[in-house]
Amino acid sequence: MPIDATLPYDETNVFARILRGEIPARRVYEDEHALAFHDLNPQAPVHILVIPKGAYVSWDDFSERAPDAEIAGFVRAIGHVARAQGLVAPGYRLLANAGMNSGQEVPHLHIHLFGGCPLGPMLAR
Ligand code: AMP
Repeated sequence: MPIDATLPYDETNVFARILRGEIPARRVYEDEHALAFHDLNPQAPVHILVIPKGAYVSWDDFSERAPDAEIAGFVRAIGHVARAQGLVAPGYRLLANAGMNSGQEVPHLHIHLFGGCPLGPMLAR
């Protein structure tokens, strides 16, 4: 069910629970600002989610409210994960759903990192 990304942050969302260690995740990277883990339902041979540690509903919320250090740290973490996964030479795709029209389901900002095969057209037609 797509979420309304204009609602306040919900501390009970699944990624908040992963950050608190309440539910498991196949973690691949963690630093001061970000956590990366494998998507539970992968859509490509490599499908990793990178999330900021701060409480942000969506890209809109993050880009408006996050301090510059958190934004820089998060962006660098995404690049680091892509390099560490060996995705730079073959190529990869980043995707962030934000709000109803995108189909965003989890109300904590996450960047999908896809790779491992040719990824096809950008949008389903
Ligand atoms: P979105 O539609 O952009 O909100 O994507 C949410 C993503 O979170 C989907 O690709 C789900 O497969 C993934 N997901 C949901 N729950 C978990 C979980 N517990 N661990 C890892 N990935 C999850």
